[in-house]
Amino acid sequence: MPRVIRLVLMGPPGSGKGTQAKLLEKYYDIPHLSTGDILRHQVSEGTVLGRAAEEAMSQGQLVADQLIIDMVQERLGRADCVRGYILDGFPRTVVQAEALQAYLARRGEELNAALEFWIPDDEIVKRLSGRVQCADCGSGYHGEFHPAQSFGRCDACGGKLVKRDDDAEETIRARLKVFRKETEALCGFYEKLGILRRIAGMGDMEEIFTRVQSAITGNVKVCKRP
Ligand code: AMP
Repeated sequence: MPRVIRLVLMGPPGSGKGTQAKLLEKYYDIPHLSTGDILRHQVSEGTVLGRAAEEAMSQGQLVADQLIIDMVQERLGRADCVRGYILDGFPRTVVQAEALQAYLARRGEELNAALEFWIPDDEIVKRLSGRVQCADCGSGYHGEFHPAQSFGRCDACGGKLVKRDDDAEETIRARLKVFRKETEALCGFYEKLGILRRIAGMGDMEEIFTRVQSAITGNVKVCKRP
């Protein structure tokens, strides 16, 4: 296992990249940095950044590149990132990817891999429209695939389960459209760098995690999209 692991996870909302990121965080003991989570926290705290990001987020649009780049750069400079990190939801645009490459180059660092999670659109809508999250501890559930034991309450802490504002079907479709337009170009960017690894996102999470590990350790080729 390489000593330092720096990963980028890409894929449309609902592709399972968040779940895999959590498994990777535990396995490699490096932080999982989700720009969506950081932004939601900023919004709930009412910070300057949160207020600037709020409108775009509620409409399923991307937040301005420079705000995100500054936010991520500040986060990557913290002590817990010295042994690596898992970037989930960043970069989302080629401008962000270029800024990340420039940041890494200044520090003489490299990414190990950019993982693209691939999953059909209909499956994404099904997955996202049923998901809820604990308002207190953030644990995730799904009405169909992973229901809580008592309706509307978190198994872990008893907190109230709420739907994310941007998980309404209309917003999901808007987010997918944004994803297609902006993010797919990223795959080309990382393919050119030779570090793109494509992961089929269907199946149970252990099975997918095995694919992810093989992709990171280099035992697997980039698979074709189905
Ligand atoms: P996520 O939880 O990753 O789906 O992110 C939720 C929302 O936060 C997105 O729909 C965007 O509005 C915003 N966001 C998260 N990451 C980024 C990013 N890298 N660039 C621009 N906007 C972002």
